[in-house]
Amino acid sequence: MIEGLEKRVIIVGGGPVGLYCAYLIKRFNQRVCVTLIEQKKDVGTNYCCAGHISIYGYRKLMVSSVLDLEKFLVNKIRGAYIFGPNQAKLEIKTEKFQTFLIDRSNFENELYLLAQNVGVEIKLNHKVSSITDDEIVVDDKENNKYLTIKYDFLIGADGPNSIVRDSFENKFDTSDFVVTYQVTAEGDFKKDMVSVYFGDFSKSFFGWIIPISRTQAEIGVGTNITQNPKLAFDQFLTKYNLDIKNIEFNCSGIIPISNLKNKTFVEKNKLLIGDAGCFVKATTGGGIIFGMFSAEAAAKAITLRYKSFKKIDSYNKLLSKYLSNLNLHYKIHQFMTKKTQYELDQMLLKLKEADVEIFLEKYANIDFITGVIPKAIVHPKFYVFYKEILDFIKQK
Ligand SMILES: Cc1cc2nc3c(=O)[nH]c(=O)nc-3n(C[C@H](O)[C@H](O)[C@H](O)COP(=O)(O)OP(=O)(O)OC[C@H]3O[C@@H](n4cnc5c(N)ncnc54)[C@H](O)[C@@H]3O)c2cc1C
Repeated sequence: MIEGLEKRVIIVGGGPVGLYCAYLIKRFNQRVCVTLIEQKKDVGTNYCCAGHISIYGYRKLMVSSVLDLEKFLVNKIRGAYIFGPNQAKLEIKTEKFQTFLIDRSNFENELYLLAQNVGVEIKLNHKVSSITDDEIVVDDKENNKYLTIKYDFLIGADGPNSIVRDSFENKFDTSDFVVTYQVTAEGDFKKDMVSVYFGDFSKSFFGWIIPISRTQAEIGVGTNITQNPKLAFDQFLTKYNLDIKNIEFNCSGIIPISNLKNKTFVEKNKLLIGDAGCFVKATTGGGIIFGMFSAEAAAKAITLRYKSFKKIDSYNKLLSKYLSNLNLHYKIHQFMTKKTQYELDQMLLKLKEADVEIFLEKYANIDFITGVIPKAIVHPKFYVFYKEILDFIKQK
């Protein structure tokens, strides 16, 4: 960066991904002015999430050296029960804890403090209402006035309905987006196991139970954006005859599943991170870990631009190792979605017979899956799946 020249990076959205990115950019580039704009009055409120993240994924993030995951811990999980639409039931359980349920509000507030302490300018209660190539218009809701702010780089961290993404010429496909309905309820739960339920109540996704404790859980359903998620939720409860009480509506939100192949996440001087860039695992809907990896990649790309005059397009390249995994998650999601309920159940039964539970207990990683597939392809017990494997490989 040229001495004495102020540069301004604006980040739209103060969810976990935007806050983390703002913190990193300011930490790496003290002379750059970093402004974060969030429409809500506070961070850590009104989000839609279960807060279930992998321990391995979190430990790979730079933030793990400054924020200990235990600080936000609500519950520790060892594995999952997977229920097929008819009779299949799989149990994948490891000795070591694999995932944590975190207090997301607490997590966001800690990220907020990190950003604030390195000198990020944070404008709460401000909503970005329009975008041009070098400035944005912001609704200052507190003072009831509009501001125009110039930027050198604009980062969209504004979630699934991103206004920054909408300003891109290269449009994202939203037809695979999933809508959700989630409640908190009481019942008798297995504290260290999540449950995933498939059935025709959900088009293209599933229902879930994520225990908070032995007696309380987050229970939800996701279905294609064209469906009614509340209806899907009611059908899910009926189909599985779930014995729960004191049901409290928690949230309804969007999981932005999209085919990211051949997509670009930087256009001119605008970048997309987190849910705005659809960095979610299509198999589970989890977006916190990969969203935060995208924040790290964006912060690196901005730093390379300012310190080594590299092109900002380096962002796409920095993302490649995450995209190869996200693309594989998407491919598996598509493969399963195309199956009928009967075929899906049969496939799960066949997998059980081939000891997939033992295989996954040994090799499963819910984030980074590119290393697992080659092991599955050469696994002697999975030869019975040669037709499915061929179909999977051929699938575009
Ligand atoms: C029901 C449900 C359960 C989920 N469970 C999990 C889970 O267990 N684990 C997991 O990893 N992921 C989960 N996810 C996904 C996860 O919540 C998202 O991937 C994550 O929140 C993405 O973070 P983000 O910062 O990119 O976006 P967000 O958290 O959506 O934050 C975007 C921010 O931008 C702000 N904003 C939007 N537009 C504007 C604007 N125009 N101006 C100013 N501010 C704006 C919003 O107010 C918001 O604060 C779940 C999602 C749903 C719907």
